[in-house]
Amino acid sequence: MDRAVNENSPSPDRTSDAASEPWTVRRILDWTTAHLEKHGSDSPRLDTEVLLAHARNCERIRLYTNYEDVVTEQERALMRQLVQRRANSEPVAYLVGNREFFGLDFYVDKNVLVPRPDTETLVIELVDEAQKLTNPFILDLCTGSGCIAISAAANCHNAKFQATDISEPALAIAQKNAASNELSNQIQFLLSDCFEQIPPGTLFDIIVSNPPYIPDAEIEQLEKDVRQHEPRLALSGGKDGLDFYRKIIQEAGRYLKDQGLLMLEFSPEQEADLLALFKATGEYTNVRVKADLAGRARVIIGQKLPILK
Ligand code: GLN
Repeated sequence: MDRAVNENSPSPDRTSDAASEPWTVRRILDWTTAHLEKHGSDSPRLDTEVLLAHARNCERIRLYTNYEDVVTEQERALMRQLVQRRANSEPVAYLVGNREFFGLDFYVDKNVLVPRPDTETLVIELVDEAQKLTNPFILDLCTGSGCIAISAAANCHNAKFQATDISEPALAIAQKNAASNELSNQIQFLLSDCFEQIPPGTLFDIIVSNPPYIPDAEIEQLEKDVRQHEPRLALSGGKDGLDFYRKIIQEAGRYLKDQGLLMLEFSPEQEADLLALFKATGEYTNVRVKADLAGRARVIIGQKLPILK
């Protein structure tokens, strides 16, 4: 009966020709997944689902509860643009303007590094230490999207933060993220190349940073997504990748209270260099390294020795 109706109907969908099948959610998901896989995405199905949910302005789960819905022309037009950009390796987070980190939503675009799950290890350690203190004052250097200071603030309501970045657009994004997460009252943002604009004499309980750490020669070997789309400024750590660590580890002592903590994220192969940099200052005790969820060395923590008077 249905078939007879279809055959007599003038609808372009009545033939079995694939080109005239309606573009349902299911068909778009399958087609796009194959397309993105061909263009080198590591997670083509997930990318496709996130993009289609964005184009349809719905939650991902709604794609599956409306699997046979025909996607509107307007949504398909938006999806086509997103897929084209993703096929050109643009990170999904930039395409949808959002990334979840530590259970919070962060706006991101090409001016900031996309927050990485690895960085949650640093935040866990930071929150753990901050919660032991009464009213801690914490400095986050190279804040980027603000993900470290903001997610720590959300979990330590007694803590106050200063967050710096050398990039004006990055700082504007961090500010916007603090506001959207309703944490602006805990965080002060400062345009500054590391410690440069911190007033002398300011002392923190904890200084934290996930600075740029890719050695110059390795930038060209990074995945296309990162190399072509994420900000160089947020990646490049100089010739050996350690420029920011040298600067931060040498200068942090001046801005830390006695027994204050310096906590830095790094790339696993830099562990020995970082231990040596901490040791060379002679200013830290209790230096320890924490592993990420994959078991790789990821965070280094040192405690400032009290100055002997
Ligand atoms: N602190 C930000 C992050 O962890 C930015 C880091 C960076 O730009 N190197 O994502």
